[in-house]
Amino acid sequence: MSMNRRGFLVGSAALAVTACRTASSKPVKTIAITMDDFNLGFDIRLDSLARNQAILDAFAAHNHKAAGFVTGQFIESDVGRAVVQSWASAGHMLGNHTYTHMNSSDEPVDIIKADILKNHAAMKGYAGYQPYFRFPYLAEGGTMDKVNDYRAFMDANGFKNAPVTIDSIDWYTTDRLEKRLKSDPNTDTSSYGDYYVKAVLEIAQYKHDLAVRLGYPDMPHSLLMHHNILNGLYLRDVMDALVADGWQFIDAETMLTHPVYNLRPNIPNRGRSVLSVLAQERGVADQGFPKAYHGFGKDTMDALGL
Ligand SMILES: [Zn+2]
Repeated sequence: MSMNRRGFLVGSAALAVTACRTASSKPVKTIAITMDDFNLGFDIRLDSLARNQAILDAFAAHNHKAAGFVTGQFIESDVGRAVVQSWASAGHMLGNHTYTHMNSSDEPVDIIKADILKNHAAMKGYAGYQPYFRFPYLAEGGTMDKVNDYRAFMDANGFKNAPVTIDSIDWYTTDRLEKRLKSDPNTDTSSYGDYYVKAVLEIAQYKHDLAVRLGYPDMPHSLLMHHNILNGLYLRDVMDALVADGWQFIDAETMLTHPVYNLRPNIPNRGRSVLSVLAQERGVADQGFPKAYHGFGKDTMDALGL
């Protein structure tokens, strides 16, 4: 990417912020947390239940009702079922993330459909379960033929898609944090927390600016995170920082009723923010993530020694 290109993007972002702060009716930045997978296996520093309690405490501190998109194979144990039940008891929404977390771009449609229905059967007994479906890897089928097949399947079975607008890329940050903790369980992890907070703020602001440019200045955002050690340790810090940066939390179930989430772009989403898919469809400029987080932030984390 050229200097001119970077300079233009930085300049327009600065202008947009100035415009927001000086306009009489500035857009309110609203956001809901959606947390996927519930892969509870990692237990260095915090065990599964302590990690879960820290996550629930962070939500409670901000009076936030989030959404958990659960993959059934990860919660087959008593601990797994207790974790999901604790979300239901705390009033959070629960949704469907397939039973075995296959990539729908790679697998036959009928295999994925059966996996969705198997997870529905596993989840429907929990209070708070709603028939919202989140595609693993945000991969909605790979080709438009398959995308349309899934859309018809979801309509016929009463499922609604639950897209993401802001990807925290916490899965990648966590992967590196877990490797560090495995090699040194007593390592100081605070620099991972600092990096994570900064990444979420910068990615969220980028996607808010993109939403403004797409004509949705007031839309509630759908933030993707995962039930992992990074959030067990630093979710509270991220939520505090979002509020300090002008964001307001909205219930995830309310967020998902916004019309943007019912749009059906004519481009297959193979793993992106729905805003990036809409930008591509409409010819609106978008680089996916701020430059520091291209490649999931690998170069930035390398440079920081994380
Ligand atoms: Zn997932």
